[in-house]
Amino acid sequence: MPTRTVIVIGGGIAGLATAVRLIQHGIKPIVLEKRPFLGGRAYSFTDSDIDSEIDNGQHIFIGACDQFQRYIGDIGASDQIRLESRIEFPVLKGRETSWLRAKKLPGPLANLSVLLGYRHVGIMGKLRILRGMASIKLTRLSANSTLDMVNLDDWLRAHGQDNETIKNFWNLIILPSLNDDTTAVSAYTGIELFKIAFLGSARNPALGIPLTGLSKLVGDNARQFIESHGGEVRTGVNVTSLKVENGRIVGVRTANNDMIDGEAVVSALPAAAMTPLIPGGTVGRDDFFTPAESVKTAPIVAVHIWYDRPVLTENFVAVLDSPLQWVFNDTALKSRTELGQHIVISLSGAWKWQDRSKQELREIFTAEMEKSFPLAKKARVNKFTIVKMLEATFRVVPGSRRTRLPQRTPIPGFYLAGDWTDTGWPSTMESAVRSGNLAAEYIANDIGTGIQSSVVSSGSRQPE
Ligand SMILES: Cc1cc2nc3c(=O)[nH]c(=O)nc-3n(C[C@H](O)[C@H](O)[C@H](O)COP(=O)(O)OP(=O)(O)OC[C@H]3O[C@@H](n4cnc5c(N)ncnc54)[C@H](O)[C@@H]3O)c2cc1C
Repeated sequence: MPTRTVIVIGGGIAGLATAVRLIQHGIKPIVLEKRPFLGGRAYSFTDSDIDSEIDNGQHIFIGACDQFQRYIGDIGASDQIRLESRIEFPVLKGRETSWLRAKKLPGPLANLSVLLGYRHVGIMGKLRILRGMASIKLTRLSANSTLDMVNLDDWLRAHGQDNETIKNFWNLIILPSLNDDTTAVSAYTGIELFKIAFLGSARNPALGIPLTGLSKLVGDNARQFIESHGGEVRTGVNVTSLKVENGRIVGVRTANNDMIDGEAVVSALPAAAMTPLIPGGTVGRDDFFTPAESVKTAPIVAVHIWYDRPVLTENFVAVLDSPLQWVFNDTALKSRTELGQHIVISLSGAWKWQDRSKQELREIFTAEMEKSFPLAKKARVNKFTIVKMLEATFRVVPGSRRTRLPQRTPIPGFYLAGDWTDTGWPSTMESAVRSGNLAAEYIANDIGTGIQSSVVSSGSRQPE
């Protein structure tokens, strides 16, 4: 039986991954989640009108998301995700569809071969993109690189890119991956993304898809694992402050005034929810935690349309020169056998849409669907829903790297997890899992592990 107990505040992916990794170290986690359900920013809910489960937003991952996939395996859910073998997706521009499809070649050559059959960029543009990729390969990213102070658009233009390549290639990848435009993200993060995705193995940029609702995938499966290995998960528990004894964090106080003790406490919260918990607050202070005050967020709006018949023949399509951005065939992705089709339009960097009414969005997006997918003209819309996530991801604007704090804080007994902490990854499920793994490793180092559990993951590693 575990002899040590650690409190994890937050039942999103970072908190759940922290708990799973603590268990793998023989430490008992108690996860405290404010809301009645787990999953944080990756959850699903049942729409009573149609008795169907809806994700709060389409979540995809790529092959390079190793720790996320290992985490899904650890909680016994590998059969609930699917990873393609290489990158392959259709891109619609006007009425013309062209595929970004990797050929069966070794390593990065496979990823670069996507350009061969891609007709939305001309031959000169393709040469430009190859030049850009070569510059990315030659760029060394060091911890104090000034590239974080430059925006990616400027960097790309300084390395031979033009409007055509930026719009039809670079931003096609950047916008959904970083939830922001090339003009807004730091060159450092953009270069890092392309290094990982396109200059690595053919598996790295391959798209991965959840096959079940997000709450089941990341929430229920984790709860089952944690509880069946001696941990606890308590939902509906709002943590309001940390308990300090002799300068050390030894527990938390909840909104109900309950005290819950532990040998260490992990905040697996977004930055804005973490800072109010710091003893003494951060206002007027200039310390380790101060940069977290500057973490900014970006919205995602998901448009759900239920048609009475199929309108999309592919599983997903990226759309250029249209507000549609990315269109997913949820019916096919979740292998449902309904007669009609549930379409999800995922709008990244959605400032333009976040304040529009449901009726306005319905008019705009049903019309756009008809323009891009002729089958939608004959189809009837049975139901229409919008999910707005105003703080969907943290932004990777120039200068934002300094806002990403390490998982071990200067306050003894207090650790950080959360996608926004320093993981080297943008705001993703992979970053959330990595942050949780790092926090748990630091704790195991600092307070010592309990009895070695039989469930230690092959991915367990010591932090530097
Ligand atoms: C619409 C949308 C689409 C996305 N698409 C993708 C994608 O395609 N691929 C991808 O990899 N990522 C995607 N993301 C990002 C991904 O969901 C996040 O990076 C990840 O879920 C963050 O997890 P987290 O645990 O760090 O934070 P969170 O999920 O925010 O978890 C924090 C938890 O803490 C809880 N909490 C807050 N305050 C308290 C308190 N005082 N006491 C107790 N609990 C508290 C919250 O309720 C929440 O459950 C998307 C996000 C959204 C919103």
